[in-house]
Amino acid sequence: MKASFCVALSLLAYSGLAVADEDVGRLVGAMLGDTPIISDLESLTDEVGGRVTGSAANGAAIEWALHTFEKAAVPASREPFEMPVQWQELSVSAKVSGDVEFVPGVVARPFSPAADNLTAPLVDAGMGTADDLARLGEAVKGAWLLVETALLDDTTGLNGLFGEYETAAATEELVRKSGAAGIVFMSSRPKNLLYRLVSSQNPQPRILMEREDAKRVQRLLRAGKLLSLTATIEVDAGYAYQSANVIGEIRGSTRPDEIVLIGAHLDSHDLGTGALDNGSNATMVIDIARQITRLGLKPARTIRFALWNGEEQGLIGSWRYTQQHNDELDKHVMASSFDIGTGRLLGFYTGGMDGLAGMTDVHLRPVAGLGPFEHLNVPVVGTDNFDFMMEGVPNLVGHQADANYASNYHAASDTFDKVDQQQLKLNSAIAAAVVWGFANSADRLPRQSRAQIEQLISTTDLETQMRNFGVWNDWSSGRRGRQR
Ligand SMILES: [Zn+2]
Repeated sequence: MKASFCVALSLLAYSGLAVADEDVGRLVGAMLGDTPIISDLESLTDEVGGRVTGSAANGAAIEWALHTFEKAAVPASREPFEMPVQWQELSVSAKVSGDVEFVPGVVARPFSPAADNLTAPLVDAGMGTADDLARLGEAVKGAWLLVETALLDDTTGLNGLFGEYETAAATEELVRKSGAAGIVFMSSRPKNLLYRLVSSQNPQPRILMEREDAKRVQRLLRAGKLLSLTATIEVDAGYAYQSANVIGEIRGSTRPDEIVLIGAHLDSHDLGTGALDNGSNATMVIDIARQITRLGLKPARTIRFALWNGEEQGLIGSWRYTQQHNDELDKHVMASSFDIGTGRLLGFYTGGMDGLAGMTDVHLRPVAGLGPFEHLNVPVVGTDNFDFMMEGVPNLVGHQADANYASNYHAASDTFDKVDQQQLKLNSAIAAAVVWGFANSADRLPRQSRAQIEQLISTTDLETQMRNFGVWNDWSSGRRGRQR
C-alpha cells in the first residue's frame, strides 16, 4: 500500500503546485501517509456496528465520534435535534401457502406499518406500472402485490439504484389508494441479498423478498398456482425522539466567521455495518480534521467537520443543522458531502451553481496527479448537501465511481471487507485539498436567492428527484429551504 502512495506523491510533485502552497502539500502528504483512518473505520463498523438512527448502537456511534475527535485534539460537540418519526424493524416473518408452501426470506421496507398475521392472496403485479395494475383490475383489492424489480449489480451501479428508487416510488403512489393489502417487492440483488430501501408512508405494509424466492413465487403464479402470503411485521415506530449531529471545528485565523464545511453521515442501516455507506467517509472527515490539527495548520476560514445523523430517514440531521445555524448560512462559503463509498473520486456534483466548478478545479490542482477530475454541474438529491442546496449555500457532493457501492447499498453485505482501503486514502487527500482550498482562497461565491433556487428547480430535474426521495412536500409547503 505504501508503495502506491509514493507513486501518488511523486505525481503530486509533478503537478508543481504543491510547491506553490506549502500547507496544502503538507496536508495532502499527511493524508496519504500513515494515519488511523482504516483502524477508525474498522472500529466504527466492527465494534459499533450497524447504527440506525434511534437505536442504542447509534447512540454509541455518537459517543465514538466525540471520543475520536477528542483523541485527535479536535474540538467537537454534540448538537441535539428532534427526529420526527421513529422506525425500526423489530422482527419480520412471512410464509407462502396454498398450492405450494415455503418460507421466503424477507425484510420490512423502512416506514412500512406493522402487520399482524396479515394473510392475503398473492398476485403477480408485473413491474408495478399503471398498465400492470390496470390489467389486474379488481384482483388488486385485498391482495399482496408481487412487484418485480430490474436486476441491480456492479454493471448497473448507481443508475440502477436511482432507477429502483424511482420505480418503487411510482408504484407506491399508484398502490396507495388501490385497496391492495400490501406490496411484496422483489429484491433487485441476487444471491439472497436483502437491503433497506426507504419507502413512502403509505398505509399498506411493504416487504422486500429475496430475489430467488420472489422469482419462484412469480413463476408459480404464472403457472396458474394459487398462493397466499401471511406476513407479520413488528416495528418500533411512530414517535418523535432526540438524536444529535457531531460537529468538529477548527477556527479560522483571519476570517473565523466564514465557514467551510465537510460532512458525511454517521448513521447507517441495520442489516450490515455501514462501511461503504457511510463509515468510510465519516472516518475520512475525522482524519482530515486530525491531520490539519496535527500539522498545526491554520486555515483562514473556520472549517466545520460534520458527522450527520438521521440521513437515512430523510436527510434530517443536516436539515436540522441548516435550521439551527440559519443565521450563519450567509457565512457558509461551501458545504461538501461525501456519501458514495470508496469508489474513485472522479470530481464533484456542483449543483448547477455558476462558478463553483471552476473554483473547485483551482483547489484540485495540488492533487492533479490523482485525477483526472470532471465535474457534473447538476443538482443531486439523496444526501446531506440537500438542505444546503435548498438554502442557496454553494455545495459539493463527491462524485465517485460506483465501484461496489450500489450492489452493497443498505444491505447485509455492506461490511468492512468491502472497503477499498487504498482508494479511501487517495480520496481523503483529494477531499482535504478541496476543503483546504475553499478555506483559504481570497474569493468566494455568494449564497443564492430564493428566486435563483426556484430557477434551478424549473430548469433541471430537481423536482422529480425531490419527489422520488419524498422531500418535495417539505419544500413546496415551505417547511424546508430558503424562505426569502
Ligand atoms: Zn449514505
